[in-house]
Amino acid sequence: MTPFVYTGLPTRVVFGSGTMAQLGAELDRLGCRRALLLAGRRHRAAAEAAADGRVGGVFEDAAMHTPVEVTERALSMLRAIGADCTIAVGGGSAVGLGKAIALRTDLPQIAVPTTYAGSEMTPILGQTENGRKTTQRGAKILPETVIYDVDLTLSLPPALSVTSGINAMAHAVEALYAQARNPVTSLMAEEGIRALGRALPRIVADPADVGARSDALYGAWLCGICLGAVGMALHHKLCHVLGGSFGLPHAETHSAILPHVLAYNAPAAPDAAARIAAALGKTDAAHGLYDLAVGLGAPCALKDLGMPESGIDEVALLSMKESYWNPRPFDEEAIRKLVGRVWAGLPPD
Ligand code: NAD
Repeated sequence: MTPFVYTGLPTRVVFGSGTMAQLGAELDRLGCRRALLLAGRRHRAAAEAAADGRVGGVFEDAAMHTPVEVTERALSMLRAIGADCTIAVGGGSAVGLGKAIALRTDLPQIAVPTTYAGSEMTPILGQTENGRKTTQRGAKILPETVIYDVDLTLSLPPALSVTSGINAMAHAVEALYAQARNPVTSLMAEEGIRALGRALPRIVADPADVGARSDALYGAWLCGICLGAVGMALHHKLCHVLGGSFGLPHAETHSAILPHVLAYNAPAAPDAAARIAAALGKTDAAHGLYDLAVGLGAPCALKDLGMPESGIDEVALLSMKESYWNPRPFDEEAIRKLVGRVWAGLPPD
């Protein structure tokens, strides 16, 4: 067997239906008495009830790509109410804000994710300031406790369930060809892709299917572990640039880009491509993924997500700025071609 290094991360995970009810007990475990709740209107009341009188304030303005200005406003509220922890209930935006606060205060965080983005399982924070997104990694950023409550995902609209689910798959896809790939994350990656690939069509057919929702959240958890455990490659870099530079929606952008990067990387990572195809039950990984996305109605053209055509050159330029690992070498022209195809909504090459 190829030598490898594997580092497990210490997050406590509570998974099931109705698990939000355990929020009070989890606050007790962490010794927390007064929380700043980061949640929108949809989840606020349920979280306050489950926290059993320990929510000292609610901040509702979490935003995609964690703008620093929003974090500073949340920090002011945290200090004003004397909070000793945060509880983030929502998608990657709420979870990201909790991580940004933890980075600055080292206070404990409980994350209750309601999408499949996977941020809750990673010690990674992406923040935006002056139109640029920067990423950092550190132990303070990783949530102490994650409560996965399947019931909270039932309201996730089918369209967002599909793109968010493919966003999760992207972590697993890149983990399978990551430079630091190892047998443990590869097992989780395959299982995550398999679980989501089977669950998403069932969710589109019936968004209230608790079994499908449970499978999808389980898959998202596994994919999130992959994202936190091994370095990512070209796909995540492109999405990072697209999100930071054009404010494109996170899940939809991942969903549109992934089949194309997979098609590009597959010749250099045939084992990974074979495992992805098998997990999807398809003969070809990239086209199998594209067919899944299109078949479930996911947007496949960046032009439909608000990206101007003139942005293609900018993305190619920005993507070359810092060097990062990818199984297949690339240059500005290769990126321009790839992003151009996604912009126009063409199938992968
Ligand atoms: P999001 O949190 O912005 O949620 C998208 C939309 O879905 C929002 O309007 C939200 O209100 C709504 N929503 C969420 N849960 C819902 C539910 N259960 N029912 C109905 N509506 C619901 O988007 P996201 O895709 O979850 O996360 C994207 C953000 O997460 C980005 O900022 C991205 O950079 C970050 N992220 C970070 C990491 C990391 O490891 N650092 C990993 C993945 C994503």
